[in-house]
Formats: sequence, C-alpha cells, structure tokens
Amino acid sequence: MAKKTLYNGAYVRVNVDKPFRRDVTPRDWYDIAKDLQKDILRHCDGIESSSIEFDTDDVCEFCGDDWTEGDSPHNGGCCDEDAKVLEAIDKMA
Ligand SMILES: [Zn+2]
Repeated sequence: MAKKTLYNGAYVRVNVDKPFRRDVTPRDWYDIAKDLQKDILRHCDGIESSSIEFDTDDVCEFCGDDWTEGDSPHNGGCCDEDAKVLEAIDKMA
C-alpha cells in the first residue's frame, strides 16, 4: 500500500509585527493579534474560521540563552545563575 496525500484545507498565516516596546507580554501579543484578526474578518470573505496562536522559544530565565536541556530544571550551566541550579541538583543526587 502506498501513501497518498489528500489536500482537505488551506490556511494563510499572518505574522503580527513586533511592537517597538522592549517588554511585550503574552497579553500584549494577544491584544495586537486580536485587533488584526477583527480587521481581517471584517474585510475578507471566504474565511471559515480563524484562531490566534503563539510562537514561543524556550530560553534560560537568567541569561536568555536558548534552552537546550529539554525538561531539565537547569540549562547545562549556561550562565552563573543556571550553574548554581545545576550545582544544587548535583548536591541532592
Ligand atoms: Zn543562562
């Protein structure tokens, strides 16, 4: 049996401009996306549904480096503060 791909839908992804403010909360992102969603639905035909979704990145809370350690409570010692977490965990083991 060979695999066959059926096309049963399509969507258009619209990325929201990042606000110029430095600290943008998830609520800010949501509010901006919601306003854009309302404008799109007001002006476009042929939309069955729409949703607001977020792109996220996991980073170290202390230094902002990319998170590389999966579900671990530390990030491999990426910075002094994270290294303290790693050291505390090692002492418990
Ligand atoms: Zn770090």
